[in-house]
Amino acid sequence: MKILVPVKRVIDYNVKVRVKADQTGVDLANVKMALNPFCEIAVEEAVRLKEAGVATEVVAVSIGAKAVQEQLRTALALGADRAIHLETEHNLDSLQVAKLLAKLVEEEQPKLVILGKQAIDSDNNQTGQMLAALTGMGQGTFASKVVVDGDKVQVTREIDGGLQTVELSLPAVVSTDLRLNEPRYASLPNIMKAKKKPLDVKAADSLGVNLDSKVSTLKVTAPPSRKGGVIVESVAELVEKLKHEAKVI
Ligand code: AMP
Repeated sequence: MKILVPVKRVIDYNVKVRVKADQTGVDLANVKMALNPFCEIAVEEAVRLKEAGVATEVVAVSIGAKAVQEQLRTALALGADRAIHLETEHNLDSLQVAKLLAKLVEEEQPKLVILGKQAIDSDNNQTGQMLAALTGMGQGTFASKVVVDGDKVQVTREIDGGLQTVELSLPAVVSTDLRLNEPRYASLPNIMKAKKKPLDVKAADSLGVNLDSKVSTLKVTAPPSRKGGVIVESVAELVEKLKHEAKVI
């Protein structure tokens, strides 16, 4: 069973993001980039399924400029067998990413596609759902447990106020939530080995998908900065302020 794992290059979650002065986006100059954390969980789950003898091959794919190859090498160091880079300089939105992935699904015929539930840069939470719709595959989103059983997969989903377990027939799309697993660290020998694993590069525009974006960002602003606190003299003053200034009681 082949598993396809789409992975995205995003700003490292430890970086404090700076909004550009002209509000067109965030400043990416000299910023540390990393594998999207939910994609790391997706790679880990796929590698665990391979280690358990359920999967036979794990293929990582990333869509973007040449730099995404750095994150593909990370996925290979974490245990993926090979990687595909769909190269484009276009700034894509989720629908185009999903359409490109659908083309790749047609070519690669994976039994399972495991993606992150969302990319932490755009917070879209759309690609997995769109891919499932475009390919006609069933979807198990926000997975906290994945059990493959023959030609079915059971996915326990994190939903508001509890858990829901669904059963999908394969091939299927699964998107990962935070509690699915704890990704391993790539060991130095595996980082070295990853350099020799196959990484195919294809032009994204060779797949016949219109890459012109239908969504444009009008403005990006930083959250309002936190106002300084005040020290109150008494409980009565605190209650007074909570009632009349904060208006929370
Ligand atoms: P999003 O819908 O943009 O929040 O992204 C959800 C998931 O879709 C990510 O965690 C990735 O698994 C996948 N994805 C999004 N953008 C890309 C991309 N450019 N290349 C590969 N996978 C992507």
